[in-house]
Amino acid sequence: MDEPLWADKRRFNTFAAYCQRTYGTRLQKLSIDAGFTCPNRDGTLGNNGCTYCSNDAFNPSYCQPEKSITQQINEGIEFHQNRYRRATKYIAYFQPYSNTYKELDELKTLYGEALSHTMISGITIGTRPDCIDDAKLDYLSEIAKTHFVSVEYGIESCYNKTLKAINRAHTFETAVDAIKRTAERKLFVGAHIIFGLPGESRADMLAEAKVLSALPINSLKLHQLQILKNTVMETEFKNNPERFDLFSLEEYIEFVIDFLELLNPDIIIERLSGEVPPRFLVNSPWGLLRADQVMVQIEKRMKMRDTCQGKYYSK
Ligand code: SF4
Repeated sequence: MDEPLWADKRRFNTFAAYCQRTYGTRLQKLSIDAGFTCPNRDGTLGNNGCTYCSNDAFNPSYCQPEKSITQQINEGIEFHQNRYRRATKYIAYFQPYSNTYKELDELKTLYGEALSHTMISGITIGTRPDCIDDAKLDYLSEIAKTHFVSVEYGIESCYNKTLKAINRAHTFETAVDAIKRTAERKLFVGAHIIFGLPGESRADMLAEAKVLSALPINSLKLHQLQILKNTVMETEFKNNPERFDLFSLEEYIEFVIDFLELLNPDIIIERLSGEVPPRFLVNSPWGLLRADQVMVQIEKRMKMRDTCQGKYYSK
């Protein structure tokens, strides 16, 4: 295999290597629940949310909105220092729900509290692509002059028929517009995508690699569809299981490698698979494997296939 296009020995473009190259150290994200909601839940666009949505499943225990942001950061640092002793710099990750869905003045107060913490080097803001505007982006680009700032958009699918079926209540074009306006301001753009949504074939999902490669995205998180308890999708799955073609672990490993081969090698991969605590899952077709264990298996298989991200990428 030729040397990868990025300067380390991994077979895909990792976020850890990006941090090392750019900041000379690991940047550890600390999840913050700042009490946001979402227009697809508060009645503005809908009340039931996206069919797969269960934000509880993604929230670490230290992360509760009744605690101040400073307290959540302190507890998050303590948690991660026990687990990752190498981390010296931290990013406040505004994670659950839509973290730009407040007035700009309120956002300034919330992000400002996180950035005033001496251990915090930047912020990552997870949000919907229809919850951002130019004034908010301009403000974020001011912060980005002195801090790491990334905006992470849920794309989930490049197909409007899928977005409609999972009740995202926005289109793919909305996501493209938000991504472009964010990138124009030189902000770091992250994106999420889910593989295995009902109605999409493996070929449909692989075709997304080319579409995403053409967008000004800095990083991507890949997730396999997981059916979570107390979601609309749980009921759909129980009523019509034939609509779902969930990946086995072996199928997912081969699929993700096929996808990475087609993906622009400049896009940093922040996640190769999703992971939620088993108590939230309706079924666990992969057993109790953690995301980092899945990553090890994917890299091992990439080595056996003598391949890397971008091997078959073409503009
Ligand atoms: S946009 Fe996010 S928070 Fe809102 S309903 Fe969908 S998955 Fe849940």
